[in-house]
Amino acid sequence: MKKFLLYLWQLPQNIVGLVVILFLRKKNIFKYRGKLVCYDTRLLGSISLGEYLAIGSVRQETLDHEYGHTKQSLYFGPLYLFIVGLWSLQEVWFDRDGDYYDDFPEKQADKYGGVIKDENNRRKCTYVPTAEELNSINKAKTNK
Ligand SMILES: [Zn+2]
Repeated sequence: MKKFLLYLWQLPQNIVGLVVILFLRKKNIFKYRGKLVCYDTRLLGSISLGEYLAIGSVRQETLDHEYGHTKQSLYFGPLYLFIVGLWSLQEVWFDRDGDYYDDFPEKQADKYGGVIKDENNRRKCTYVPTAEELNSINKAKTNK
């Protein structure tokens, strides 16, 4: 019941997510941290839409960052597409200061997903994937 209500709470992005996945290649679909991931090498970037991640890279850093956006989706609910979506789009288009991950909501997505910066300012993952998740990631890397 709780899961159903949370799905409804995120309905706009869940619908967009389903539509996006409909148009992607289905050969690399797997679960990562409870979310449905669709990896398609034709994608230039990655997007997090409620319960769905459409990704153009299977680097763990990307998966964890996009997972962080799913947390924002839970918090912002029906406002997610406006708050996070519009902000991200304007960052992609104008990239005002040159560092995409330094502004809200990208910084917050990193934090929620467990992506930190090391002493050399390089992004690093703190989440440890399960054996099944690692297997899916490796399979997707070879199954392009
Ligand atoms: Zn992001």
